[in-house]
Amino acid sequence: MGNPKNRRRFSLLIKLKKPWTPRWLPAGLRDSLSNKHHSRDFNFARSDYLRSRILFVGSVFFLLAPLWIFVDFLLLPPEMLTKLALSRVVLMGLLASIIYFAWRNQHQLNRICTTLAALLIAPALFYFGLVLFYSDKMNSLVGYNFIPLLIIAFLSVFPLTIIEGLGIGLIIIAIQFLALVDLNQLATPDGWQSLGLLVVVLGISLWANHSQVSTLLRLYRQASMDSLTGLLNRGILLEQLNLLCQHRDEKLAEDELPAPISLLMFDLDKFKRINDTYGHSVGDQVLQSFAQILRNELRNSDLIARYGGEEFIAVLPGTPKVDAKKIAERIRLQCEESVVIAHDGEAVNFTTSIGITEIRLDESLDTALHRADTRLYMAKNLGRNRYIDYDSPAEQEETHHYF
Ligand code: GH3
Ligand code: MG
Ligand code: MG
Repeated sequence: MGNPKNRRRFSLLIKLKKPWTPRWLPAGLRDSLSNKHHSRDFNFARSDYLRSRILFVGSVFFLLAPLWIFVDFLLLPPEMLTKLALSRVVLMGLLASIIYFAWRNQHQLNRICTTLAALLIAPALFYFGLVLFYSDKMNSLVGYNFIPLLIIAFLSVFPLTIIEGLGIGLIIIAIQFLALVDLNQLATPDGWQSLGLLVVVLGISLWANHSQVSTLLRLYRQASMDSLTGLLNRGILLEQLNLLCQHRDEKLAEDELPAPISLLMFDLDKFKRINDTYGHSVGDQVLQSFAQILRNELRNSDLIARYGGEEFIAVLPGTPKVDAKKIAERIRLQCEESVVIAHDGEAVNFTTSIGITEIRLDESLDTALHRADTRLYMAKNLGRNRYIDYDSPAEQEETHHYF
């Protein structure tokens, strides 16, 4: 099994996920600036898009690398051929490792982004190496001077956030800057022109990145959101929860300590009465207000979904049950303190009952969901407006009464 270090590393990752975005930015741009506001499940989906494109573009680069040897063979003097062919073999080795790494790291957004950076920076370094070795012969090398421009143009193919695209783009421009210094072309019109062109193409690529991320986000929200509350819908929650458990099982198979996953199941108390007394639209407002409480009290990395009419689920990865109980209590209190104003100005109160469980390593997801559901209905039977985190009445001392 793993050691406590793994657990510490996991919790650090969660803590680092503090949103940072300037308030003055338009909302659309804020969405595509960085992934800090993206939910865990959107990150899963985006990493899949990125991965499939890395595999495709990586394979194209991998095939182009040896093919270009024939072009070199036709145009270059023999003394240059061997070294160039050798450096191409090294580049192919690097590309093969990058493709393998992307293949192995499905759903791991950070690793996939690092792989993409490596995929684009490797040919740039190959180009830079050529400049260092053959600065006097660069003009006779057909197709090589285009490498930095080609890479920056390729950036536009990927649904990257602006910060990710800008980071990779600036590294490529820095490499071209150093190459121009080595070629003594920095202060020449050609030098300025090539840098200027890179900056303009980077701008266009970032625009394409922004459009892709925004479109993906819009489509993703339409397909995965509950339209009343803006939370995930049941289908996507179950899909993401399965992925999460799968990822955990992989960790276990690799002998690492998997992080605990807690489940909170909510059902609003006497909700029918709210509908009957104040009307359906006030009931809808209560549902929206409850969804907002969940968003406020939980992290971006948690999955929050509307499971049915007035039933909700929160999945808390990296959170043990003991912490889930504290969170459940905060949510319960927030509900008690919240009011929705009805049409006649009357303040409408609402409460929730909560079933809590941690998904065990040796059980199916259905079993865990069923246990959370049973505990939720125990909370109902015991008088509502409370959470329950045990199965048998023998554990009664853990009951929490709030009246
Ligand atoms: P309990 O405390 O036992 O959960 O009682 P309850 O009244 O909340 O339970 P019940 O399941 O009988 O009532 C759920 C109600 O939720 C019935 C249904 O009309 C209402 N409902 C379901 N979806 C919506 C919705 O989208 N909007 C509104 N306003 N009401 C909804
Ligand atoms: Mg219900
Ligand atoms: Mg209910």
